[in-house]
Formats: sequence, C-alpha cells, structure tokens
Amino acid sequence: MSKLTPSTIRIGRRYRANRLNGAYDAVVIGSGIGGLTTAALLSDMGWKVCVLEQHYTAGGYTHSYDRNGYEWDVGVHYIGDVGTQTRTRKMFDYLSGGKLKWAPMDAEYDRFYVGDKTFCAQAGKQQFRDNLVRQFPAEAKAIDRYMDLLRQVGDGLTVYSMNKLLKPWQRVLAWPYLKLRTPGLLFRNTYAVLRELTGDEDLIAVLCGQWGDMGLPPKRSAFMVHAMIARHYLYGGFYPVGGSWKIAESIIPKIQKSGGEVFTYARVKRILQDGQRVTGVEMADGQRIKCDCVISSAGVDNTFAALLETGAVRHAGYDPLLKKVRPSMAHLGVYIGLKATAEALGLPKTNFWIYPGNDFDAAVERFLDDPEAPFPVVYISFPSAKDPDYERRHPGTATIEIVAPAPLAWFKKWQGSTWGKRGDDYEAFKADLGKRLLQHLYEKLPQLEGKVDYYEVSTPLSTEYFCAYRHGELYGLDHDAVRLQQTWLGPRTRFKGLWLTGQDVLTCGVTGAMMAGLLTTSAIVGWRQSAAMIKRIFK
Ligand SMILES: Cc1cc2nc3c(=O)[nH]c(=O)nc-3n(C[C@H](O)[C@H](O)[C@H](O)COP(=O)(O)OP(=O)(O)OC[C@H]3O[C@@H](n4cnc5c(N)ncnc54)[C@H](O)[C@@H]3O)c2cc1C
Repeated sequence: MSKLTPSTIRIGRRYRANRLNGAYDAVVIGSGIGGLTTAALLSDMGWKVCVLEQHYTAGGYTHSYDRNGYEWDVGVHYIGDVGTQTRTRKMFDYLSGGKLKWAPMDAEYDRFYVGDKTFCAQAGKQQFRDNLVRQFPAEAKAIDRYMDLLRQVGDGLTVYSMNKLLKPWQRVLAWPYLKLRTPGLLFRNTYAVLRELTGDEDLIAVLCGQWGDMGLPPKRSAFMVHAMIARHYLYGGFYPVGGSWKIAESIIPKIQKSGGEVFTYARVKRILQDGQRVTGVEMADGQRIKCDCVISSAGVDNTFAALLETGAVRHAGYDPLLKKVRPSMAHLGVYIGLKATAEALGLPKTNFWIYPGNDFDAAVERFLDDPEAPFPVVYISFPSAKDPDYERRHPGTATIEIVAPAPLAWFKKWQGSTWGKRGDDYEAFKADLGKRLLQHLYEKLPQLEGKVDYYEVSTPLSTEYFCAYRHGELYGLDHDAVRLQQTWLGPRTRFKGLWLTGQDVLTCGVTGAMMAGLLTTSAIVGWRQSAAMIKRIFK
C-alpha cells in the first residue's frame, strides 16, 4: 500500500508544555462537540478554559480530513432541526457567533432500500406523514397514531434532560412530577411499540430505517431514542457549509477570547486525584495541569476505566454501575474520491440506507455470527453534493462516504499495531470489505462504475487510534433502555470537581452531545447563572 499523506485540515493549537498559559478555571478533556460546547459556554461567562485533545485536529467526531485532493467527514452526515430558529439552531448560532451556515439536503433526505423495495422519508411533518401514507395506503391510521406518539415523546425528552441536572436529593423530591411527565413508552422496546400500531413489517422497517443513527436495531433499542431521532430529522437534513470541521472551527474563537485554548496532540494520561477530589490532569508528557474543575468529554469508558484511579472508582461505588452499560457497535468507513463534480455524476443530497430485508435484528445477528453474511445495513452519504462550498475548495471533484457495522473482534489481531503500518494481511482484509461495500454503491448508482479515482477504508482500529474509543465504538455507550435509565449518567460525578459531558450524558448525535454541553455548564455554574445563559442563547 502506498504511504498515506497526512491531512492538512488542522484546527486548534498544537500542545507544548510551554504553551500552557497560567492557571485555568477549567480543564476539558476532549474537543468533541460536547467538550467544545461546555468550554465555549464557560468562556462566555469569563472562565479561562483549557481544552486538551489527543488527536492532531480538534472537533472529535466532527473533524474532517483531506487526502489526495479530496476531503471527508468522519462523524457528521446530516443534522436536523436547524432550518428554522429552533433551540438547536439557536445553540449553533450562539456558539459559532452566527458563523456556522447550513445547507438543506433534498426534500427526500433519507432513502431506504429494504430488500428489493424502495421507500423514503420526506422533510416536513405533514409531508413526512403524507409520504408514508402514499407508500402504505392501508396503514394511514397506524401512521397517524405513530405521529401522535412522536408528539407525546417530545415533552418526555425535555423532562428526561432536566432530570439529569438534578442532584440526587432533588430527584427524590421531584420524583412524583417527573414520573407524571415521563411517558411510559420512553423506555419500552421500539419494535414492541411499533408492532402495537401495525402488523406491516415493511412499514415498521421504514419507520426504523434510521436505526443506524444510534446503532441499535428496533428489537434492542428504546423507543425514546428512536423517537428522538425521528423527531430530529422530521423537518429534513442539513449539512454544515464548508464541511463538518467548520463546527469546531467556528466555536474555538469563543474559548480563545477569554484567554483559553484548544490544544491538539494533547493526550491526558490520567486525572489527578486527592481521594475523592479531583485536582487536575497529567499529560502523556508528564506535565501536570492543576485545576479543581475537570470536565471529561472523553466518554464514560475512557473516564472511569482509563483516566481515573481504579481503586478510587471502586471506592466511589462505580463498579456495579459501569457493568450496566456497554460500548456501542463499531464500524467501517469507506472514503471515496471521484474526478468529476457531484452534479456531473448525478449524486443526490439524499442518504441511502441499504438493508437486505425488513428484519433488521435478524440481519445483525446473522452478520455478527458470520462476516460473510450480507451487511445488515450499508449507509451511503454524498458530502460534496450536500456542501455548496465543496466545488470552490476542490474543483472538479466529488466525494462519497459509506458506513457499515463491523465488530472490533474482527480486527483484534492487529490491535496495538501502528496506523498506516498494520501489515499486508490487514490491508487485504480491509480491501475485501471495501470492495464489498463499493458493490452496494455501484448497484444503486451504476453510472459510478469505473469513475472512482481513490478510496480508503477505515476500521474500528482507526476509530480507536484517531478518536480514542477503546472499543472502536461509534456512539459511545449503547443506547438501550438500561443505559437510558442510569441516573448517574449525567454531568455530575461522585468525585468533587469532576464533570462529564458529551454523548454519554444524554444521547449520541452532534445535537445530543451539544445539548449535554449545555447541561454540564448549567450544572457547574448553578441555576442563577444558567438561567441567564439560557436566556441569552434562546432569546
Ligand atoms: C460514522 C459516524 C457517523 C455519524 N453521523 C452523524 C450524523 O450524521 N449526525 C449526527 O448528529 N451525529 C452523527 N454521528 C454521531 C456524532 O458524531 C457523535 O455522537 C458526537 O459528535 C459525539 O460528540 P462528543 O463530544 O460526545 O464526543 P467525541 O466527538 O467523540 O469527542 C471526544 C474527544 O475526546 C478525545 N479524547 C479521548 N480521550 C482523550 C484523552 N485521554 N486525552 C485527550 N483527548 C481525549 C477524543 O480524541 C475525541 O476527540 C456520527 C458518528 C459516527 C462515528
């Protein structure tokens, strides 16, 4: 394999111990959207915040990279709810000072290939409903009941988030109210809820066609996350103009304005503790940064299993709690470059979801048992078609990204090897998987055969290497009903001065992790200051 040239997209400032600038009010581990949101909101209140990112560029899963004249995103394909002045849009506007712009996708934002049938989702609540009824005319009643369930869940999601802010004793007092306002179906199994509405397995498959957005098929996921995602995209999908790296790039100035910084190549080795109190962090180079406010956006697994002292974690009673959660699935990525524009190639601003049939759970089971079995889901996204600025940056070219599940176990024998030098057998295995995934692309868009100029395949080991997820997990913790009911998964920890943020606090997704940043900031500064902050953001 030829040597891979390094990406030139670098945001944040390269860490050196002598670039640390005096005492910080808070240290944030990880520069994903959760960490950056918390850092930016605290900075906005005058805090001096130091963000430490182990990767060579900031942004976590929102980072992009370029190679051979092409540019790809690793963890952002579409974001919902930003077409009008929603809360999500106001948050992005506030964090980016209005610099982040959004481009709408096609009205048909998701297309589902289920076996040999094709269905789709259309932007707009009424359009979404009418389009479903057009595809399933006999199921109009079930579809209306489904839309009603989505509406009911809305209130429950707000209560769910607010609950995370409460201290344990406050939660006890608020319990009667919380129970009343939390619809029972939130934590019920997605498939079971939908099966009560309809016996049409194709309709259930279409309603669950976005299960890959949270990583669990319908018989294993909680209705809450299913509904949250469906609601999130109900008004269509949007793409950050200029690429997903624009998200972090537009937020960082807010942190720097208060004297803070976002350092890259800045791996935190451990969180420093004095008993149950946190006193700062120790960097991989041995440098210690003293600080009595440490915010971890590196994920629950990294924080409790890799960064804190094992004995202290046990002593604080976390061991049985950690056993209740597990990492989400891992994935393969295929990053494709073509020497013609998206327009010339006829690439849509629509995501493709390709399924072998309508029993998604059975397909996952089959695949986990047998790597030769069909991929249970293949997701194809066309970033250059979605980005109105792409042609300016990379004239005459187009890009495509493919995502599909793959367990880390398949790659165990190469774990610990160096990125780019994992050996010929690894490359051959990857090439085989990449070819299988490309076949799905050619099947749906035959005009692309022979037009691919360049492609590369990422594996769960790439996720481990670049994004520091030890199990190659793509969405942090698995989003099953047990995880969602863990009240300890919130901004507060049992260690004084240690806070959590990011996708493990609420849910995955850029918006989920960003809203976790808002929650964490609120928990840190208290009700009075957070009320003023919320007023400023959502005015
Ligand atoms: C393939 C894929 C596709 C996706 N598509 C979408 C999509 O289309 N729309 C959407 O909304 N969401 C999507 N997501 C999910 C979304 O990207 C994530 O849920 C979200 O970005 C997570 O943000 P975060 O802040 O919690 O964590 P992350 O972005 O994972 O950030 C955590 C950061 O911590 C750093 N870190 C870890 N350990 C250390 C350490 N010891 N020292 C220093 N730094 C450390 C990591 O390097 C990482 O940068 C996708 C994710 C993936 C993987």
